[in-house]
Amino acid sequence: TDKKILTGKKKIIEVGNIKLGGHYSPVYIAGPCAVESKQQIMETALSLKEIGVDILRGGVFKPRTSPYAFQGLGREGLEYLKEAGETAGLPIITELMDEGHMEIVAEYADIIQVGSRNMFNYSLLKALGSVKKPILLKRGMCATINEWMLAAEYIAVHGNQDIILCERGIRGFDNYTRNTLDLAAVPIMQKETGLPVIVDPSHATGIKDLVTPMSRAALACGANGLMIEVHPNPSCALSDGQQSLNFQEYRQLRQDI
Ligand code: PEP
Ligand code: MN
Repeated sequence: TDKKILTGKKKIIEVGNIKLGGHYSPVYIAGPCAVESKQQIMETALSLKEIGVDILRGGVFKPRTSPYAFQGLGREGLEYLKEAGETAGLPIITELMDEGHMEIVAEYADIIQVGSRNMFNYSLLKALGSVKKPILLKRGMCATINEWMLAAEYIAVHGNQDIILCERGIRGFDNYTRNTLDLAAVPIMQKETGLPVIVDPSHATGIKDLVTPMSRAALACGANGLMIEVHPNPSCALSDGQQSLNFQEYRQLRQDI
């Protein structure tokens, strides 16, 4: 189980003129859980650009716990996300669930996200080794630090070392919050892998009032960025509205931190 590639040498990931990792300033990724319409993602992109976000997020292939929940807009959503990113001048990140969509997602997205549920999907990780785009690898909700490290090593050994790690909370015994944010994993993974490590306080807590305090904590322990869910009207969101901030709340978060 020894690491051979990600041995701790500091790695800077470049996305356009954004630099992630090392001593560069934290990078801000924000956007809705899911792309819901052309208008929703365009409005979000323009507002977030104005507030000062670096990268726009939006899921189009959604890994929903229930098969009856909104599954995302798929390819159509990719078009909307791309157009919104280009109009606002923001690079985009979206989740890839299925190897069959790898080519199209790699064509559209500036960063490819591997979600918590797929961190253990070794065939997907191997396939991503051949992609020439940075990968955001979220921690599996039941993954140990070592398993997460080796998941990153899978991508690296298959040819792609442009990896950003994302701590998004793990499952503990307490279900008051959606997950338990493991902040110690941030400096551990930075030291062990040399890769940038960002934090997603939205999925880590599942509660919008906890997003700002956990963002502050994440930056205090040295996280290289934050990924936060923002929606024009969270109470009407098709997914994860309870943990999403509206534009004003996100603007306030940025002031607070
Ligand atoms: C997401 O970021 O859209 C997401 C589904 O998060 P996670 O994979 O961490 O549950
Ligand atoms: Mn979500």
